[in-house]
Amino acid sequence: MNIVNDQKVILIVTDGMDPAAIKQVPKAQEFMKNCAYALDAKTVMPAITMPCHVSLFKSVDPEIHECFDNYDPGYYNKVKSMVDIFHRRDRRSAMFYSWGELRDLAKPGTMAYDCFISGYYNSIEKATKELTDNAIEYLNKNFTSFTFFHHDLIDSHGHYYGWMTDEYIDACKFVWDEIYRLVEGVADENTTVIIVSDHSGHDRDHGTEEDTTIPIMIRGKNFIPGTLLENASIKDVAPTILKILDLTPDEAWEGKALY
Ligand SMILES: [Zn+2]
Repeated sequence: MNIVNDQKVILIVTDGMDPAAIKQVPKAQEFMKNCAYALDAKTVMPAITMPCHVSLFKSVDPEIHECFDNYDPGYYNKVKSMVDIFHRRDRRSAMFYSWGELRDLAKPGTMAYDCFISGYYNSIEKATKELTDNAIEYLNKNFTSFTFFHHDLIDSHGHYYGWMTDEYIDACKFVWDEIYRLVEGVADENTTVIIVSDHSGHDRDHGTEEDTTIPIMIRGKNFIPGTLLENASIKDVAPTILKILDLTPDEAWEGKALY
């Protein structure tokens, strides 16, 4: 038996976006005005994309979920991911991404829709625009409780040009244009939008303690604009989403709901 729940959550990950970049990105500042937010939230160590994403989806530290690099998602680890819980309760999930490794975040068959457009065989910009188009079309036709949209361009420019360079900031602006297009194209009064970075960065890399400060922004009816989220962690995102969707977290989860 499923409890009827008309709420929808869109989780947008701005891979590698440093909270310090926000003040140089007008759209990010504008969006943040309507959010509860933290600019000093913490991700886990190592501050690397896949371990951080598994902690985002499983609300535990890498020591518990056993994913420490980008190549081994700890597939057979026993801690449930939020997508496992959505699937068990027949809540539809969808994901949109241009970095193929992320397919391993969800076990086969647990997503209602999985849209991958390679940022390697296209440009990341082209892939991103097509993903946004695809998401707008799909989400307007199909009620989807949980949507995950991953943006790879900021991290990519960080590695290529360096964190906080002009080119890096340009990538942030590009991504935020696409975030706006998606949110304006699909969000209604029952939609909560969560924007979070998996990690920050420095020079042309990331992975260390100094890369663990991240932004979290949440816009939705349970969140009062301007509220500062204190002591927020990437591990708090999954419990927050489950609370919005009226579901119970896995017993092993370490994070807390942010409202
Ligand atoms: Zn990276």
